[in-house]
Amino acid sequence: MDKKYSVLFILRSFIIFLAPFLVLGLLTGAFWLCLALGLIVLMAWHYHHQLKLIRWLWQSRTLLPPSAPGSWSYIFDGIYRTQRRSQKRRRDLARLLRRFREASEAIPDAAIVFKSDGSLLWCNKLAQFYFGLKWPGDSGIRLSNLVRDPDFVRYIQQAEFGDDITIESPVRDDLELEIRVMPYSEDQYLLIARDVTQLKQLEQMRKDFVANVSHELKTPLTVIQGYLEMLEDPANVPAPMLQKAVADMGAQSQRMRNLVDQLLALSRMESPAQDLFELTINVPHLLSNIETEMQQLNQDKQHELTFSVAPISMHGRESEIRSAMINLVANAIDYTAPGGKIQVTWRPVGDQMEFSVKDNGPGIANEHQHRLTERFYRVDDDRNSAKGGTGLGLAIVKQALDHHHCHLHIDSVYGRGSHFYFRVPGELVVQQPGSARQRMRHSNV
Ligand code: ADP
Repeated sequence: MDKKYSVLFILRSFIIFLAPFLVLGLLTGAFWLCLALGLIVLMAWHYHHQLKLIRWLWQSRTLLPPSAPGSWSYIFDGIYRTQRRSQKRRRDLARLLRRFREASEAIPDAAIVFKSDGSLLWCNKLAQFYFGLKWPGDSGIRLSNLVRDPDFVRYIQQAEFGDDITIESPVRDDLELEIRVMPYSEDQYLLIARDVTQLKQLEQMRKDFVANVSHELKTPLTVIQGYLEMLEDPANVPAPMLQKAVADMGAQSQRMRNLVDQLLALSRMESPAQDLFELTINVPHLLSNIETEMQQLNQDKQHELTFSVAPISMHGRESEIRSAMINLVANAIDYTAPGGKIQVTWRPVGDQMEFSVKDNGPGIANEHQHRLTERFYRVDDDRNSAKGGTGLGLAIVKQALDHHHCHLHIDSVYGRGSHFYFRVPGELVVQQPGSARQRMRHSNV
């Protein structure tokens, strides 16, 4: 309170106000009448300002107080100051609340604030998306009535929030949410939900991968172990049997070696691709090397193997593109019956380049085609394990092509043959001056 405004000040103002009435009373001899008159005027003056105060507080839209003399100026100024202070506090609070909401919208998780009785107080947009909540529409409604998942309802009702739970989103298919709840303020809780769908899928893939590798290694190891047991007493093993045992063990160890090589190739390809445009692959030279290598592979089956190669290079990682091409040509050689016809082509299509391998082998039934690039996927286990296949070849091709923004197309008719091809985007094709695109190199094996 202002120092000036003391009891003494009130008394002094009171006397100053009444003084003229008292003097008039003494002069006229009507002292009491004049005193009463003075008091009535004083009361009317106070009522007048009381009315002003009420009108200002309840009817006026302005925050500025009306002018008033004496003690009333103190009252009006005091109220005005208090109002200003609370208005500033309200503004600060609103700013804080806005910042909190902006921050909670910025976090990549869904956030819900609820009371200890389970009723919803507030939620961010992601929570509305994950749980199908509406805010402020649903505020005050119990969470267990809004999200009906039995595990979630139990979790909220038991209010033991030591562990996380994982539930499926009630409104989005295939979305798994990991939920954590922590005390927020006196009787409020903060619920954070995270999308763990991909994590779970990765975990499943990792488990499948380990199971597949173990399975693939188990078969050759069992065969080798069986022969080794038999060879514990070599004197009793007839010579032809011994020969077969050595040949089988050789084939099985080759199979394991293939598997390990392919796993290593896959893991090498998982490292992030460097800038493709800095590297150039001389594709005609690469294909001429591949052709020599494939001639070796073709010796048993004696297919008619044709290479048509346009003299055009591309940007990319040679080891990966080589792997992709070799896998496609080797598959055609392996899966086609002896004396088949296989055409390998590298040719321009518009501003793109196309690599294609066409064979007249057994073809692949429709239902298998979309799964061929999955790791360890094989059409026919017996046929392929005899061939030594691991089911990783086309997964390697896909990975290599993904790094080069290419897509593997499979065009196959069961019983008639297969056509595997991919197109290199124009940006990765090395444009040559005076383009020699038309002059293709043809060779037959
Ligand atoms: P694998 O190591 O078994 O050859 P891949 O991933 O290379 O594994 O191939 C997956 C499956 O696709 C093979 O098991 C095979 O059944 C089928 N396949 C691939 N290429 C051909 C082809 N040219 N003709 C027929 N079937 C093929």
